[in-house]
Amino acid sequence: MHEWALVDSVVKAAEAVARESSLKTVGEIVLVLGELQSIDRQAVDTIFAELKARAAEPVRNARLVVESEPTVFKCRACGKTFAEKDCAALDPVEKEAVHFLPEAARVYIKCPACKSPDFKLEKGRGIYVREIRGEQ
Ligand SMILES: [Zn+2]
Repeated sequence: MHEWALVDSVVKAAEAVARESSLKTVGEIVLVLGELQSIDRQAVDTIFAELKARAAEPVRNARLVVESEPTVFKCRACGKTFAEKDCAALDPVEKEAVHFLPEAARVYIKCPACKSPDFKLEKGRGIYVREIRGEQ
């Protein structure tokens, strides 16, 4: 399961940070998920609760905060940055296609300013731990 591997690596990262920075407790872990990643948030919470119970001592009471990174496109022709919602509404099949393969966005989305289909995905695909906060 996708979510399991993700949460497992987040917990391991927190354990490593706690070890390297000699933290007694890790209070908060901020995980950023790109909108285009289609991660099941509910599963993330459930798995985190399960894995932290078995984690190294400092991580056992950590809180996981999940932030969403919105999708941002940048037009190569005119330089405008725009979001999926700035474009004509996609039907569910088109939306699914874009989420599955962001490159497919070019087929369905055009720059709202100059109508160029030549844009790149700037944000929305990332997954990263933004912050691990703890006490020494
Ligand atoms: Zn443009």
